Amino acid sequence: RKPEEAVAAPTLPPKAPLRILAVASGKGGVGKSTLSANLAVALHRLGLKVGLVDADIYGPSQARLMGSEDQKPQARDKKLIPVTGTLGIPMLSMAHLVEPGKALAWRGPMVGNALTQLIDAEWGDTELLVVDMPPGTGDIQLTMVQKHKPVGAVIVSTPQDLALIDATRAVSLFHQAGVPMVGLVENMAGYACPHCGELSDPFGHGGAESKAGDLSMPFLGRIPLAIDIRRRSDAGDPPAAGEGVHADAFHAIARKVAD
Ligand code: ADP
Repeated sequence: RKPEEAVAAPTLPPKAPLRILAVASGKGGVGKSTLSANLAVALHRLGLKVGLVDADIYGPSQARLMGSEDQKPQARDKKLIPVTGTLGIPMLSMAHLVEPGKALAWRGPMVGNALTQLIDAEWGDTELLVVDMPPGTGDIQLTMVQKHKPVGAVIVSTPQDLALIDATRAVSLFHQAGVPMVGLVENMAGYACPHCGELSDPFGHGGAESKAGDLSMPFLGRIPLAIDIRRRSDAGDPPAAGEGVHADAFHAIARKVAD
């Protein structure tokens, strides 16, 4: 056969780049990890190939939330291979790599390296990596926005004013780095009484939605403060993996994020 007739080797379709969605909050304890886990589960149930990274290097909680605490990641060619959490979602957290309960006393550069190890792992055909960011605006956040360039950020806040002011700071970090805002989620919005189901508003109502308007970013929805959400989260069984009003609330947010 003449050289010009040689059949070209089949080219593999280019692998889609792994897109990163950062889930952030200005302060801790507002439910950022809870939202990250449930968002990953809900996006997975929408049919997306989702992975989950716990970038909260000092206070990792995704292994517990996703029921993967007893797994240890293997490594191949110096790359970590993710473990599997709820619904088989690939995931990595510092909690999989360090002894439970052991405090990390690391300086900035080491933390940045740890984050890069988690993100540059062997994610296979994963399309979207949901990254649970640590609270605030420190070293990890800078490494994240500068080096790993998320395609978007979701901000979580409670309805309290203070949390909203902190959320504004988190928003400005992403703005400065040119990371588009996907939107704001209000967590612990109204207390759902476990006996009668009635909703009350211990932290006020509507603050996050109007703040989202002030910041010209979409409001993605509300998640109530509910004992069932806390119980299921602690048991490593994210509510979004089940059925009911709380699952629906997370799924509604995931649909807006997927759009
Ligand atoms: P963060 O990641 O912002 O520090 P977490 O997701 O770890 O916050 O949530 C802090 C605590 O609040 C956890 O015990 C979690 O189970 C609980 N929690 C979070 N969101 C809710 C909610 N909507 N209803 C009830 N408990 C919640």
